[in-house]
Amino acid sequence: MIMPDTVRTRFAPSPTGYLHIGGLRTALYTYLFARKAGGKFILRIEDTDQQRQVEGATELIYQSMRQAGLDYDEGPDVGGDYGPYIQTERRALYRQYAEQLVRAGKAYYCFCTKERLDELRAACEAKGETFKYDKHCKSLSQEEIQRRIDAGEPYVIRQDMPTEGTTTFEDMVFGSVTVENDTLDDVVLLKSDGLPTYNFANVVDDHLMHITHVMRGTEYLSSSPKYNLLYEAFGWPIPHYIHLPPVMKDTHRKLSKRHGDPSFEDLLRAGFLKEAVVNYIALLGWNPGTNQELFTKEELIEAFDIKGINKAPAIFDMAKLTWFNAAYIRKMTREQWRKTAMPYLARALDVDQLADVDMLLDILQPRVEVLTQIADLVGFFGRMDEDYDLALFAHKKMKTSVEQAREMLPRIEQVLTSVKDWTAEALHEALFGLVADLGVKNGQVLWPARIAITGKQSTAGGAIEIAAILGRQETMRRIALSKRKLGL
Ligand code: GLU
Repeated sequence: MIMPDTVRTRFAPSPTGYLHIGGLRTALYTYLFARKAGGKFILRIEDTDQQRQVEGATELIYQSMRQAGLDYDEGPDVGGDYGPYIQTERRALYRQYAEQLVRAGKAYYCFCTKERLDELRAACEAKGETFKYDKHCKSLSQEEIQRRIDAGEPYVIRQDMPTEGTTTFEDMVFGSVTVENDTLDDVVLLKSDGLPTYNFANVVDDHLMHITHVMRGTEYLSSSPKYNLLYEAFGWPIPHYIHLPPVMKDTHRKLSKRHGDPSFEDLLRAGFLKEAVVNYIALLGWNPGTNQELFTKEELIEAFDIKGINKAPAIFDMAKLTWFNAAYIRKMTREQWRKTAMPYLARALDVDQLADVDMLLDILQPRVEVLTQIADLVGFFGRMDEDYDLALFAHKKMKTSVEQAREMLPRIEQVLTSVKDWTAEALHEALFGLVADLGVKNGQVLWPARIAITGKQSTAGGAIEIAAILGRQETMRRIALSKRKLGL
């Protein structure tokens, strides 16, 4: 049988919680591959393991896919010609195919109880062997099978693996993979609840949905020969396989939501931009072959190539992601930055009280790496810590001291009082006029001025910008307060 011409890929998550980073990366590569080839990208929900289901997780997947900009051509909530796209809604179909395999002699009914299987498992372990089902039920007669089914005995359908020879499959990243058939277990295809296992459903669905390229984690690499045997048993064309190495937390541990590592949603909540996360994740295990690091989605589509996928696991590096995020913030237009930063600003302080919000946004843009830092950076604009330590006035390099501040602050207050139009230019002129008049160093005016109106040693912006942002009234109020603190 011939594969269809059009590339069709699918992302097939199990709805077990938020979309984790490894999952998002699989989705992204699958999407990029399909888009580059001018093919179709499909979302399929693999919910046949009912015990692992998490309420609402499917909706979260739709939401995360949208947020990441991974629009799919077919899927449960967008429709398509090969639906339903949720496996539990395809239930009847799997039985039909499993029974077809039984008739073809490639699968068989198994009535073994949990107790028998546990004993078998224990016996294997005692011998230091990995568990393999002993094909006990394979030899049951047709009559006995029918009698037991009619009597309502629970059963599963198992794949009948060959016991001799080898099975080989080709992976576009890992090359040729061969396994000895006698290492393959007669896995369950259809469970006693009538639902398929992943082993079976992925093959049936990938075939019925005309998937040409299967991308998934390397945890499925060693099982793929089993799937090939199924394709062969059905006489179906085998899709191209692209197994992706895991995303790691460090050299030993896989990134995992269960161990507290962030999901895509967590990263967005923590102040990362979705475009930056997507860009960073694209490079987690794929190399464009150039030094380019910043890619728009269109550029990623253009540059993506399976040849650039690494075999080695990728390590998720928060510092690197932060670098990407900062780069994305710096690249924004003023308007984009305003739109992005305003909600964070508004949560941190009463924006209406500020005299110049645009200036505040301007000084933040080159400094903010992650949006949630905004609150910390701007807090003092809303409320100054009036109990700040007077020792802050003393700065060796600036040649300032508490005593010097006591002398300087009234003069600063005086020149600022005479500023007519409260703009950064006018404030600059006033304070630098004072520097020139007194023949002192810039810092001897600017340092005490800044401490007096912020109560902080380090701030985004200098005295002039901060005074412009605070406005006349608030600046003068803070100077008066600091004078009192200095006993003036
Ligand atoms: N449901 C599987 C998972 O979430 C998908 C594996 C595949 O893409 O075939 O890991």
